[in-house]
Amino acid sequence: MCGMRHWITRRRRVAVFMAALLIVVFAVGSAGRAHRGEPVRANAPPTRAQLVASLPRSVSIARIRQHLVALERIAGRHGGTRVAGSPGYAASVVYVQQALARAGYRPRVAPFPFVEYEELVERGLEVTPVRRGIELEAIDYSPSTPPGGIQARIVSSSGNGCSAGDFAQARGRIALAERGTCFIAEKARNAQAAGALALLVFATQPGPINATLGDPDASEIPVAAVEQSVGRSLSAALDAVVRIEIVTRKRRTSSQNVVADTQEQRGRVLLVGAHLDSVLLGPGINDNGTGVAALLEIARVVKKRGPQMAVRFAFWGSEEFGLFGSRAYADSVPRQELVAYLNFDMLGSREHVRAVYEGPYAALFHGYFRRRGLATERIDLTGRSDNHSFEQIGVPTGGLFAGGDACYHLACDRVGAVDFRILEQLAAGAAFGVASLAPHR
Ligand SMILES: [Zn+2]
Repeated sequence: MCGMRHWITRRRRVAVFMAALLIVVFAVGSAGRAHRGEPVRANAPPTRAQLVASLPRSVSIARIRQHLVALERIAGRHGGTRVAGSPGYAASVVYVQQALARAGYRPRVAPFPFVEYEELVERGLEVTPVRRGIELEAIDYSPSTPPGGIQARIVSSSGNGCSAGDFAQARGRIALAERGTCFIAEKARNAQAAGALALLVFATQPGPINATLGDPDASEIPVAAVEQSVGRSLSAALDAVVRIEIVTRKRRTSSQNVVADTQEQRGRVLLVGAHLDSVLLGPGINDNGTGVAALLEIARVVKKRGPQMAVRFAFWGSEEFGLFGSRAYADSVPRQELVAYLNFDMLGSREHVRAVYEGPYAALFHGYFRRRGLATERIDLTGRSDNHSFEQIGVPTGGLFAGGDACYHLACDRVGAVDFRILEQLAAGAAFGVASLAPHR
């Protein structure tokens, strides 16, 4: 037995050695795992550092593309648009609900009041100095002209139309102003106050203007856009006379936001949002199917990898007409419930810039891309998208944007026009923002 005793002692030594080896291996392994962002204990929830590392990598561009293809198909089945108030928008709401439910959420559809708007007649004629038809694009929520239209002399604004005095000569005339510096609604208010019969605006670059007054009651005078070249020639002419005829229809109705929380119990959350509606003219795949698709994918990976994160995903209705969905939500949510708001609108533009919203989270996002050797730009999108609704109630905001696009607000805003390389980078950046800012519970 001595042998045994030797043997037993030797077996005990081997066992002690093996145990020590196992401990060392486990310690080294878990350090490695911690470094690779994997949970240390199999059932330990991942730490913030681990989620910040793993979430951006877990976002699948293939799944994002599937969402975009589905949204384009929805538009295709409904007249090529997912504009607020349309069957295409209603189908988009159902699609988002189902995608969230598949990922384990209990999405809520929250209705909000909204004024549907339709353009029936948009006709323009330059009477003098050159008799010619001019293309007219009513600004969303423009009222109609009186029956038969308005014919009057053109008076250019003496400034950019943003001050009351800029339309001093416009009484009984049609005012003309270049776009920019302030919202079109403000120029319309100034022209109306000066007694103008209508306001025409023209863009600072060639191409159509597709804009909104933002508020159905913003102006009592008709407001429309003309091509840049037409605007310039009318403002250069001393005695230009124009005839315009606009017939629009407004209908008070409601639209919907879709909202889903990672956790059912109330408490402070990080709110992240993307608008779900498109403009009338196109399916809105870059604007803003890309934001919607990125958030649906991020919602999936958050639920899977970081359920302890308190995140509220929001898909806003009627952003294009004037931020109606996010404004209604901002007016109804208890302010203290929101830690911050991150906005994602147009993440796949062919201008493909990595633009970071100015604000308290800019450095966070710039740092993320810098560490990956990716250049970024700063952008101030105040008032331009749903972040504005939360800035209005004092919630700190941030977001990402891929820049302008030749198909912006047009029928060609389709899957084929999306830059998937920039979309993949910005979707991963968005996931990083969520992992960095979401409270853990
Ligand atoms: Zn948009």
